[in-house]
Amino acid sequence: SLSDRLGAIFEGLRGRGALEEKDVNEALREVRIALLEADVALPVAKEFISKVKERAIGAEVLRSVTPGQQVVKIVHDALVEMLGGADKTDLDFATTPPAVIMMVGLQGAGKTTSTAKIALRLQKREKKKVLMASLDTRRPAAQEQLAILGEQAEVKTLPIIAGQSPRDIAKRALEAGRLGGFDVVMLDTAGRLSIDEQLMAEIADIHTASDPIETLLVVDALTGQDAVSTAEKFKARVPVSGVVMTRIDGDARGGAALSMRAVTGAPIKFVGVGEKIDALDTFEPERMAGRILGMGDIVSLVEKASLEMDEAKAKKAAKKMAKGEFDMDDLADQFRQMRSMGGMGAILGMMPGMGKMKKMVDQAGGLDDKEIVHQEAIISSMTKAERKKPALLNASRKKRIAKGSGTSVQQVNKLIKAHRQMADMMKKLGKGGMKGMAKQLAG
Ligand code: GDP
Ligand code: MG
Repeated sequence: SLSDRLGAIFEGLRGRGALEEKDVNEALREVRIALLEADVALPVAKEFISKVKERAIGAEVLRSVTPGQQVVKIVHDALVEMLGGADKTDLDFATTPPAVIMMVGLQGAGKTTSTAKIALRLQKREKKKVLMASLDTRRPAAQEQLAILGEQAEVKTLPIIAGQSPRDIAKRALEAGRLGGFDVVMLDTAGRLSIDEQLMAEIADIHTASDPIETLLVVDALTGQDAVSTAEKFKARVPVSGVVMTRIDGDARGGAALSMRAVTGAPIKFVGVGEKIDALDTFEPERMAGRILGMGDIVSLVEKASLEMDEAKAKKAAKKMAKGEFDMDDLADQFRQMRSMGGMGAILGMMPGMGKMKKMVDQAGGLDDKEIVHQEAIISSMTKAERKKPALLNASRKKRIAKGSGTSVQQVNKLIKAHRQMADMMKKLGKGGMKGMAKQLAG
């Protein structure tokens, strides 16, 4: 994965101060490969990389994360921006009702399904009265498909009249929408397996006739770069106001999303996350960025590290560790920090190569997240002297502590054992700190 590749590049690099151009270039080469693997178009990837490079060179290095991780964070933030950042994804209804939403896209992209999903959502969450109409006169039973979905979603559909042209159906839908007091009329159009002039002329014609406030382009995330060229062609004929990206539940990495935003200039408003009628999410750039990079975890680690790590404390602890002085108070500190960063598993899981360390710690004392609270209670039931010198803990003291912390002597023993093993490990690893630890344990 990208995280492993970057980990390898920055292993052993103890860069402090500013990120250097050489390091940034090396990291960005890997990022570029990751983007291309995630289906981001080459020109989009290139432009993106040069933007990130500018930002990364000279950025101040955070102490508690590796430069590689920090570059990833910069990349992530730029991705979020490019994916639309704080763009609003709400649908626009600022028009005389009914507001028309026209769905366009290739056959099989998910237009009909998405029409019903959006209708259901508008009706349920925004209390809009929605009418759906299928203008797909070409595919057999396409209109019936929408009617069935309408029944499932309890959303009204325009009665089917055989032999009408798509344009006539659109007009009838608008009329029914007005007369019936609907807030929204959704027009589900026909698609083709590939773009042809007849399809485009029909789409443009319906658009003119129905004057939609939203024209949503539906694209299948799994088609990757094809989705991008499709978007270009639709964009040339109708003013796309938003994108619906379907099949995000599949294993597409979502790189097409990045290109989509760049090509259409329109925000992705929804993502389809399954076949069911409620499998629709609003688009979240943060989540998509994490998916494209395949390393959302590192990003959150960097965020947490820069927010919550008390640097002075960390330094002091590292010094003590190097000298082999790791008492129960230090352990309690570690627990506190772990909790604020999302728990032991979260921290170790976030660091490349730390799986082994997690296993070791688990074996040593079973320090899983749920137990951290107990462990802290045990430590706080110790006297000051006991915390400084755990060797004092004899049978009667252990009994007292177990009682005071609402745990058992067994649990107290477990903690003492874990402490001893951690202290030993810290001593061995000495000055290397977390990075040295990672290096030794990566194996
Ligand atoms: P249309 O030709 O553009 O109208 O496409 P349809 O709405 O008929 O969808 C084609 C197929 O894709 C159907 O089997 C849908 O159930 C499926 N589909 C649509 N959206 C999604 C999605 O977000 N995830 C998954 N897994 N399947 C989807
Ligand atoms: Mg359809």
